[in-house]
Amino acid sequence: MSACLFCRIAAREIPTKLVYEDEQVVAFDDINPQAPVHVLIIPRKHFVSAADAQQADATLLGHLMLVGNRLAREKGVADSGYRFVINTGQHGGQSVFHLHLHLLGGRAMHWPPG
Ligand code: AMP
Ligand code: ZN
Repeated sequence: MSACLFCRIAAREIPTKLVYEDEQVVAFDDINPQAPVHVLIIPRKHFVSAADAQQADATLLGHLMLVGNRLAREKGVADSGYRFVINTGQHGGQSVFHLHLHLLGGRAMHWPPG
């Protein structure tokens, strides 16, 4: 059994309602939402962070973003706009060390980020 929380969610070892799944990625609502829409889209393949990705993963990473776009449409925030975030490493604010794309929407975002 994997020790990685998000690998375990993708493998259905931790019951979590998935809002999307296919052979490459799964998506689920963030447990501590920071916006009315806050979905995490993750590859089934374990990457410690975005920094762990290689050229051979380019199609998978592109797919992650396209699934994010699809979920933004399904969640009704495509027209109002949304933000994708990939926190990477200590200064990036990463807390779960399995690559994940945050989809945030349903309110205006600020810049610069905290
Ligand atoms: P990050 O800080 O970018 O690594 O984001 C990790 C995110 O995972 C945070 O927004 C957490 O709220 C979220 N999270 C942690 N555990 C779970 C869980 N079991 N189910 C859903 N989201 C989670
Ligand atoms: Zn993992």
